[in-house]
Amino acid sequence: MIASGRAIGGGVIEVICGPMFSGKTEELIRRLRLARIAKQRTQIFKPGVDDRYESEHITSHIEQKYLCTPVKETRAILEKLADNTRVVGIDEAQFFGNDLVELCEKLANRGLRVIVAGLDQDYLGNPFGPMPQLLAIADDLQKLKAVCMVCGAEATKSQRLTEDKDQVVVGAGEQYEARCRVCFDPDLSLEKSTPKRPMARV
Ligand code: ADP
Ligand code: MG
Ligand code: ZN
Repeated sequence: MIASGRAIGGGVIEVICGPMFSGKTEELIRRLRLARIAKQRTQIFKPGVDDRYESEHITSHIEQKYLCTPVKETRAILEKLADNTRVVGIDEAQFFGNDLVELCEKLANRGLRVIVAGLDQDYLGNPFGPMPQLLAIADDLQKLKAVCMVCGAEATKSQRLTEDKDQVVVGAGEQYEARCRVCFDPDLSLEKSTPKRPMARV
């Protein structure tokens, strides 16, 4: 696994993806921490739409925090990038536009290490925002899994627990849970939901 120090010399695009609760933010924080130990200047950005927690941190579900800069749109990343930054972290990348793909290419071609974390699929199981293109052009890709909250198997899907039909409904534990392919039900209304697989297979 990539630890630190890769950015010296050549740039790279690393993508961390998976469903909600799979540890994307934890993994992003881990890589950035190691880069800092390697004395590389890091900067982290997240889209302004994710206002679940404090605006100046990226926060994992277990309350790990890391200072970051919220940005309203992709080009603000370029505007706020310091000259001596070597490693750029971007969390919740699925909320950016497709112009994020070009930006990541540009930064990596300049010799920066770009680490992008985001949901690969939305609540319907469809590719989310710029993520499919980012997965394709990544130099390094990690697809993380969570634990299915119905049966305990490996989860690759984010189950929405409300009947809201917008693609972007920002929320944490109460509105979403991780599910495996068998237990995932994009048409869910909570009442109708019955596990298709027996509990506790861990
Ligand atoms: P992500 O950024 O992918 O949404 P986080 O890094 O914020 O994930 O949080 C991952 C952490 O969430 C795990 O280390 C674990 O402690 C916790 N967690 C809560 N529910 C689950 C679940 N269903 N599967 C795996 N981890 C979970
Ligand atoms: Mg996260
Ligand atoms: Zn399951």
